[in-house]
Amino acid sequence: MSELSIVMLGAPGAGKGTQAVRIAETHGVPHISTGEMLRGAIAAGSELGRKVKEIVESGALVPDELVVEVIRERLSQPDAQNGFVLDGFPRTIGQAEALDALLAELGRPLEIVLELELAEETAVERMLGRAAEQGRADDTPEVIKNRFEVYRRQTEPLSNYYRSTGILVAIDSSPGMDEVFAEIERVLATLQ
Ligand code: AMP
Repeated sequence: MSELSIVMLGAPGAGKGTQAVRIAETHGVPHISTGEMLRGAIAAGSELGRKVKEIVESGALVPDELVVEVIRERLSQPDAQNGFVLDGFPRTIGQAEALDALLAELGRPLEIVLELELAEETAVERMLGRAAEQGRADDTPEVIKNRFEVYRRQTEPLSNYYRSTGILVAIDSSPGMDEVFAEIERVLATLQ
């Protein structure tokens, strides 16, 4: 099993989830999506789920301390010891700093941040298609608009944060998903 610790960045609908799953399967590391974990908690009606339901359904961000705790717990699981693909986390500078501190504690710095780039109108089209397929409560046109605003204000600054550490690689996400995945694999091959 190869060791690989990756963060996926990109606007809503840029294809992070799809590519993260493929990377995780190919490299034998877990795909860790805070969005999926939060939706799971909401569906299960857990204490965490009750706390975050309204926030997630509005497209706003859940408070840093809650998601950082979810990630701390998840990264301590045995299957995450040889690497992981983080999808949807970090989403704020505060979360990125918390992740750096956590990984420093574990002695395992991030290897690479892949930023998927896609024009907003294409991303919105893809998300509306996904809404029809998966029925996500936060894929309605109004909530999508809010998620883009939240992304621009709180998450986009992470590009510069990671660019300054030299581990960010931008990937054009406009071709088909197989082509995008092939490009990602070319980039990851340069790490080994
Ligand atoms: P996603 O599936 O990554 O698009 O996440 C869906 C929703 O879950 C987001 O719109 C947020 O409400 C919440 N969420 C997921 N990840 C995070 C995070 N790292 N920080 C705060 N909120 C998050």
